Amino acid sequence: MPNASTGTSRLEHRLRSDITGDVFFDPFNRGRYATDASFYQIVPAGVVVPRTMDEALRALAVASDEGRSVTPRGGGTSQCGQTVNDGIVIDFSRYLKRILSLDLESRTCVVEPGIVLDDLNRQLKKHGLWFPVDVSTASRATIGGMAGNNSCGGRSLRYGTMRDNTRAIDAALADGTLLHFGEVTRDLACVNAPDGGLALFRDMLALGEREAAEIADKFPKVQRRVGGYNLDALVPRNAANNMAHLLVGSEGTLAFTTKIELKLWPVIRNKVLGVCHFGSFYEAMDAAQHLVKLRPIAVELVDRTMLALGRDIAMFKPVIAAAVRGDPDAILVVEFAEEDQAENLARVKQLTELMADLGFGWNNPQRKWGGVVEITEPALQTAIADFRAAGLNVMMSMREAGKPVSFVEDCAVPLQHLADYTERLNAVFEKHGTRGTMYAHASEGCLHVRPVLNLKLEKDVKAMRAIAEEAFAMVREYKGSHSGEHGDGIVRSEFHEAMFGARIVADFREVKHRFDPDNVLNPGKIVDAPKMDDRTLFRYPPDYRVGELKTALDWSAYPGAGGGFQGAVEMCNNNGACRKLEGGVMCPSYRATRNEKDVTRGRANTLRLAISGQLGPDALASDEMAETLKLCVSCKACRHECPTGVDMAKMKIEVSAARVARHGLSLRDRFVGYLPHYADLASRFAPLANLRNNAPVLRTLFEKVAGISAKRALPAFRRDTFRVDSETVGPADGHEVVLFADTFNRIYERENLDAALRVLVAAGYRVHIPKPKTGNKTSNKSRKQSGSRPLCCGRTFLSAGLVDQARAELDRLVETYAPFAARGVPIIGLEPSCLLTLRDELLALRSDETARKIGAHALLFEEFLVREAGAGRLKLAFGRIAGRVLVHGHCHQKSFGAFQPVEQVLRLIPDLKVETIESSCCGMAGAFGYGADTYGASIEMAELSLLPAVRRADQSTLVVADGTSCRHQIKDGAERSALHAARVLAMSLDRGQSLSLPQPQMRVV
Ligand SMILES: Cc1cc2nc3c(=O)[nH]c(=O)nc-3n(C[C@H](O)[C@H](O)[C@H](O)COP(=O)(O)OP(=O)(O)OC[C@H]3O[C@@H](n4cnc5c(N)ncnc54)[C@H](O)[C@@H]3O)c2cc1C
Ligand code: SF4
Ligand code: SF4
Repeated sequence: MPNASTGTSRLEHRLRSDITGDVFFDPFNRGRYATDASFYQIVPAGVVVPRTMDEALRALAVASDEGRSVTPRGGGTSQCGQTVNDGIVIDFSRYLKRILSLDLESRTCVVEPGIVLDDLNRQLKKHGLWFPVDVSTASRATIGGMAGNNSCGGRSLRYGTMRDNTRAIDAALADGTLLHFGEVTRDLACVNAPDGGLALFRDMLALGEREAAEIADKFPKVQRRVGGYNLDALVPRNAANNMAHLLVGSEGTLAFTTKIELKLWPVIRNKVLGVCHFGSFYEAMDAAQHLVKLRPIAVELVDRTMLALGRDIAMFKPVIAAAVRGDPDAILVVEFAEEDQAENLARVKQLTELMADLGFGWNNPQRKWGGVVEITEPALQTAIADFRAAGLNVMMSMREAGKPVSFVEDCAVPLQHLADYTERLNAVFEKHGTRGTMYAHASEGCLHVRPVLNLKLEKDVKAMRAIAEEAFAMVREYKGSHSGEHGDGIVRSEFHEAMFGARIVADFREVKHRFDPDNVLNPGKIVDAPKMDDRTLFRYPPDYRVGELKTALDWSAYPGAGGGFQGAVEMCNNNGACRKLEGGVMCPSYRATRNEKDVTRGRANTLRLAISGQLGPDALASDEMAETLKLCVSCKACRHECPTGVDMAKMKIEVSAARVARHGLSLRDRFVGYLPHYADLASRFAPLANLRNNAPVLRTLFEKVAGISAKRALPAFRRDTFRVDSETVGPADGHEVVLFADTFNRIYERENLDAALRVLVAAGYRVHIPKPKTGNKTSNKSRKQSGSRPLCCGRTFLSAGLVDQARAELDRLVETYAPFAARGVPIIGLEPSCLLTLRDELLALRSDETARKIGAHALLFEEFLVREAGAGRLKLAFGRIAGRVLVHGHCHQKSFGAFQPVEQVLRLIPDLKVETIESSCCGMAGAFGYGADTYGASIEMAELSLLPAVRRADQSTLVVADGTSCRHQIKDGAERSALHAARVLAMSLDRGQSLSLPQPQMRVV
């Protein structure tokens, strides 16, 4: 790992003694702050995560005193390398995130720089206000970072950019001087600042006056100009000058923001969308300049490729069917959002007339084919917005070595040139042997486009430089801006001279020097930047190598070493979506700790650095790596919600396996992993096996010896485990199903299996619960180990990193279920993490046809019932349950899109009001919640939303949770008994008239 460690120890010592927040100087943590959403990597000398602004200022003082540069950082989602540097990185996002004041009358607020935009807007919503710079990264972008980059939202046509919405900034200069940057008169008469600050303001205003003509001549006139310093804020004007606007877009190079005063707007209450259709991309681009005359708040482009991708995704197919007519080459989604809905409706009518005036008609042939589809229904409007976002995600999820690269992604040109510009840009891509999909802000002449390149290859790096030079030259020809959204960073700073001319670049230097003469603040950005194609600064520098790795799972869907493990790890492009704080599940550990170490991105970066040897030998099996993954609850949310499908739960299995191979098995992992081997024996001696739960001294001993938290009761063994006399239950002529009796339900909660069996048999199915086969495929060793022990999916072994043992379990299961799968018999399970192992890890362990068939036929109980109900085959008469049920989804159900069926099936019960708890992971996650070292994090995760929601529910409300661990967490944390959905269904059946009611033949043993 490239390093900048000279003098580090004294610096580290001074920082540690001054700061109560985090101070990181170890390679793992520094590595996690070496990248942002750009393709660069520079390892900082150290990282400080201050708890208070005073600490942040002390860190700045210490670092500059020790001759180190300082780079402020928010969410680290910059696309141009703004947040990577070799000095001290100061992360504002963890602790400095408060709204300091809110003035409803003047519609303003003052915030700390680390507050995330979505978080701010959630807090403002109750006042009918919002901050409207709605960047796509709103779920993790901080206000400080947005000001740093002069960020722009999709609706900047109405609301302007960050600069337009910033009233004032309080900031510290590199020497620690605190200044208030706000509106000033040119005589600075009413400015209250120390002499040095006054002199600085005076010099800046003088520079603005001196350079006014040059600025007028050289600064592009497009609204989306976010490159360079905002010298235009300094020129004489009729109104006052706002000194804060010079700091906006300065990328942390001029001053260190401590507070920001923002302008707020009323929330949008009404809107109408007009979806304009075009037979050719060029015509769409050409039309944009006319459509904006109707004063919409946004005009967003979706091209043919995105539409095609969307049509392949089940959840977007109906959206496209409802909003898109025929086979357009591109659509422009035009949004009207005036307070008066009648006005919005009138405008969309005018849009239809305008399109007709421009010559577009549904009956035209290819040329000028098109028209407008009006969308007034809010749900469909939201679905269209979601589709646009997810379309990009699909594009980003390509698994080959080449990836869409951001470097000309946000050039902005005047609208009258948009059509020519995009046509020529496509020709440039083609010339260099690549392609790119265009989308986003047509109204601003700022289209997002990422050509696909493999930056590990010199030839593609050369192509990138050539494309950048040619694209920027075109942009200048059209008097546009190199950057219309993402800023300069390392990607664009070197091109300033071509864009603004030598004199303005000299002015930029003068500004930087006047603010920061010792070059302490984020050096090398905006002025004196390195070459954008300096490969030594890349995430994949020329010497980047991943040595051969022995992996336990199948990663062949990806390229690279370790049978593709490398490619899977490198899928993370640092976009930071895993840092979202609400909605979905990803990433529960980050939501609890807000630590970069505990987010999917931090883990993926650590893995990439480890496998490429940048964290020293054997890093994969190291303690630091174990610590990095410790709070990953293997919820699999990232697999589903990460735009590029980073599957950290699966990667964690590899890391655990590497660790077991290197260091052996801990007692706790042995205790958890081997549960299926000893569970039946333990149940026979249940009172003895449960002794630990009832004796505090044994709990303490167990914590000391096995690392199981004394605060937790372990699930109680019982003698009456689930068993059936016959391998088949139910009517002989019924449709066949297999019921997978997983270890957890079989041993601890047989009532769930009893209930499922009751429902299935009542519905007329012939239910097989086959005894294990131990035939050909099972090795002698595993046959000997397993004997006639009931089947198991191997989940507990996988979580302990015992991949061979898991494979042995799954081999038995595959062999037993193979004849059923061959006949197309559904394999139904109750425990989400167990059943879904058959659709996931099984296929990573065995890719043979039999395993694939079993995976294809594996269904959760509710998925099966919903499918049958949909096909009109579910013959059940559910009885009334008048009341309310709160449903918590297991993370794996959500990850596999299998949660909705739980809600659907419960809605079959008359009079039952079904409500979903908007929860992330319950925090129990198998063995995670039991660990003495992870108990606290487990409770914190549960307290984020699940436990408060359960506590709020009155005692008559039923609580449903299909996961064994989730039920346990609810019991421990809220003292409420949650039920598996199967039991609620059986309860309802008992109250109703079943159409066929043979009772299952079961024997309690
Ligand atoms: C998928 C994707 C989509 C995006 N979409 C948009 C979009 O729609 N619109 C848009 O404008 N951008 C977009 N971006 C770019 C980026 O998300 C935004 O610029 C965002 O506002 C950056 O916020 P952040 O908190 O991540 O800032 P960071 O990346 O952490 O920092 C940004 C800059 O601000 C500086 N900074 C941070 N805190 C301070 C402080 N306290 N004092 C001084 N300087 C500070 C940093 O040094 C850095 O130069 C996108 C990026 C991605 C990956
Ligand atoms: S893990 Fe996924 S969501 Fe998180 S930064 Fe990486 S690519 Fe983005
Ligand atoms: S599996 Fe869950 S906890 Fe682990 S990184 Fe992914 S989202 Fe986070």
